[in-house]
Parts: sequence; C-alpha cells; structure tokens
Amino acid sequence: MLVVMQAQATEDQVRAVCEKVESLGYRAHPMPGAQRTAIGITGNRGEVESGTLEEMPGVQELIRVSKPYKLVSRDVKPDNTVVTFPGSNVTIGGAGLAIVAGPCAIESREQAFTIAERVARAGAQFFRGGAYKPRTSPYSFQGLGEEGLRIMADVRDRFGLLIVTEAVDYESLDLVEKYADMIQIGARNMQNFSLLKRAGRARKAVLLKRGISATLEEFLMAAEYVMSEGNYNVVLCERGVRTFADHTRNTLDLSVVPAVQRLSHLPIIVDPSHGTGKRNKVTPLSRAAVAVGADGLMIEVHHDPDRALSDGMQSLYPDQFDALMQQVRQIAAVLGRSVSASIHVPAEATTSAN
Ligand code: PEP
Ligand code: MN
Repeated sequence: MLVVMQAQATEDQVRAVCEKVESLGYRAHPMPGAQRTAIGITGNRGEVESGTLEEMPGVQELIRVSKPYKLVSRDVKPDNTVVTFPGSNVTIGGAGLAIVAGPCAIESREQAFTIAERVARAGAQFFRGGAYKPRTSPYSFQGLGEEGLRIMADVRDRFGLLIVTEAVDYESLDLVEKYADMIQIGARNMQNFSLLKRAGRARKAVLLKRGISATLEEFLMAAEYVMSEGNYNVVLCERGVRTFADHTRNTLDLSVVPAVQRLSHLPIIVDPSHGTGKRNKVTPLSRAAVAVGADGLMIEVHHDPDRALSDGMQSLYPDQFDALMQQVRQIAAVLGRSVSASIHVPAEATTSAN
C-alpha cells in the first residue's frame, strides 16, 4: 500500500500519517519527491486498514502496489534517487557519472596507494578494493581484513576518494560500515537475506551487485530487503550473469539497465570487469554501458596485473584506464551527462605510502 500525499501537504501532515501507520503495527517509509511525498507501507501481511488513513489531512489517495517490490518501485517514487555522501559533493544517480575504480583486492599499502593515485588523477571519485574476498577456493587469497580497511581509509585521507568495499558477513559489515563510504554486497551474497537486512540498518550507502543467476525481479527484491529496513541509499550494479557463453567469464547484461530504470528509481552502475573477465573487453563494454544509460562504472585497475593476487586478467593497466575515461567522457557528453575531469593530486600525495 502506498499513501500519496497532496503536493501542498505539510511536513506535520506527513509525520502524522507516518505515526498513524506505525500505530497500526506497520512500518512507514516516507519518500519525498519533486512533486509530492509518498509513504510506502510495509510489514502488513494482508490488506492495510485504509479507511482512517484516507481521511487524514494532506492525503491525496491510497494506492495498492501490485508488484512484489514496493520501496524500490517507481510507483512509490517517480523521480530518480540520487545517492549522496556526507561531507562530499559526489553523487550517484544525478547528471554526473559515478566512476569507481581500483584493484580487486587490497594487497598492500604500496599497491593501494600506487593505484589510487592513478585512478584519482584520471577522474575516478570512488576507490574500490576488497579487504574481505569471497573466493571460489578457500586456498586463494582471502583479503587483508581490517588492515585492508585501514589502508583504504588512508587512501581516502590522502586522495579524497570515497571508499567502496565488500562486506561478506555480519562481522565484516560492522567494520566496513565503520571505515567505508559505501558497503558493497557481492554477487554471491545478493540473496543472503540476513546480510541484506543488516545492510539495511547501516548508516552508509549500499552497492548491491546482481547475483550470478538473478532475474531482474530477484535483483530488485534484494534491494527491497535493504530498503525495507530503512536504508534508502541503494545503488544497483550489473556485473554479468552466468550463461552458456564461454568466451567471457560472465555475460554482461546491459539490457538490464533500461529494464531497471523503467521499474525502479534506484541508480544502476555497470561492472564490465567481472562482467567479462577479460581486460580487452572492459573498455568496449564500458563505452556501451555509458551509452545504454548506466549511472556509472566499476572498473578493476592494477599497476602490475600479472602479479595481482586476484582478478589480474580483467584488471586494466592505469594507462588503459586513462584512455577509457577519455572515451566515456565523450559518450557521456552526447547523453547530457558528465564524467568528472582528471583531478590535480596534491604533491604530497604523489609520494608513495609510508
Ligand atoms: C568484486 O567486486 O571484487 C567482486 C567479488 O564482485 P562480484 O561480487 O560481482 O563477483
Ligand atoms: Mn574482482
């Protein structure tokens, strides 16, 4: 159920409706929009008692939401969600494209700083890198854990990049929430419902990657889990799905971008690195992702990919990332969008980590 408030409804009227909804034993999710505020109602097993709500001051109408997802739906919020980050003017979902770049895993302070400097110079606003790595083999490098998070926090201090990193369980989520600006939920955990709910109670934005074989509806329902706990700062990420095709690691499903945008107000970015698994395919599919209307890109970059502890085959060399940025900047302009310019990295930032 959705309560649509009148365009001129006051904040007090919105609050009164939310309180009424909560007093009925449901949860109220106010979603302010450019035209009007809508209040999503969750927690109801059957039909919501609508009579009293309908008569409240400021209420325009009550709409039954027939789709299985509510809060992620454009029915609840027609305007695009623009995710903001406290203390920064970077956004995801607005006119500017969000560029997330960095290694697959944080391997050492020196490695992280070397790559961060290059991606910052090229215009990325977010630095990515795993401190907790979900690996197919238990014998593969599992990440540096909290030490990796500390390195990323230092990268933020030095280069002004926002930090995105994956949480794989409750314990790591507590730490990622403390150190990072955006919590990544990886493809393998897209349907880890207790982890999604925990992310929904976090105070940081969530980057939700599409599961390896998730349908569009399953993908949106996973985002609904996060939002249903009160965290509305969710960014979706297409990272390829498993198909019969074996010329790439996964099949990057770019058609999901307009499909998501039709149904949901949430921003969606594309990860062509995991989506293809092959370095030579990353730049062409980045161009395509921007052309199809993605709100940003996530790109793995490594200065010495042959020696990377994970995903070296799909990591771009920094020079290739520079070229990618120049290309996507031109494509973005055609669509009336922008990619932030290369930034000047302060002199002390060019010295390596110590
Ligand atoms: C990653 O971003 O490093 C990662 C493991 O991605 P995914 O969950 O999409 O496989
Ligand atoms: Mn990776």
